[in-house]
Amino acid sequence: MTERSCVFCGGRGEKEELLRWVVAGNALFPDWTQKLEGRAIYTHFDMKCVCGIYGAKKALSAFEKCDSFGVPQEKILDFVRTQAEKSSDYYFAICRRSGVLLKGQNLIADEADKGTSFDSLVFASDASAKTVRELEKKTGLQGVKTVFSKKRLGEEFDGRDVSVFALKPSKQSGKLMFYMNLLNNFTSGDI
Ligand SMILES: [Zn+2]
Repeated sequence: MTERSCVFCGGRGEKEELLRWVVAGNALFPDWTQKLEGRAIYTHFDMKCVCGIYGAKKALSAFEKCDSFGVPQEKILDFVRTQAEKSSDYYFAICRRSGVLLKGQNLIADEADKGTSFDSLVFASDASAKTVRELEKKTGLQGVKTVFSKKRLGEEFDGRDVSVFALKPSKQSGKLMFYMNLLNNFTSGDI
């Protein structure tokens, strides 16, 4: 596990779970996929630290020839939200293709009855309390509510509303949950 410190609050975190920032031209940019070359600094992926870097003098002075931010402060939350949504979509597709993602109350309940174990249970923001209660009981998991509505979740599939999906344990499931949680943290209200 590779750890890095957050340039704003000084706390440590696993590199993959932090936001990486690198210099391109004379500006500091968020490097979403952590693939750009060069020296980097990191922040936590919470609003306080992502916004805080804009006021942290040592952020820009850590680099030679860096005098501005590539994404203006008023756009950074939108930037994170948009990227988190893209990454969620990407891992959604991978999880579907690899069969670790199952959707729909009946299918998940049937699989749970057959002994399939899941490690995440994810509900649409407008899923009914009854659906949540029944499936949590059936799977023994505490469900997570996303900012995605049934309609928006359905767009990840065949366009029909989806109120719930479940993930079997896998690296890709972990990634999907990471980005969905990120999206939840950076979004107010349903989407
Ligand atoms: Zn921090």
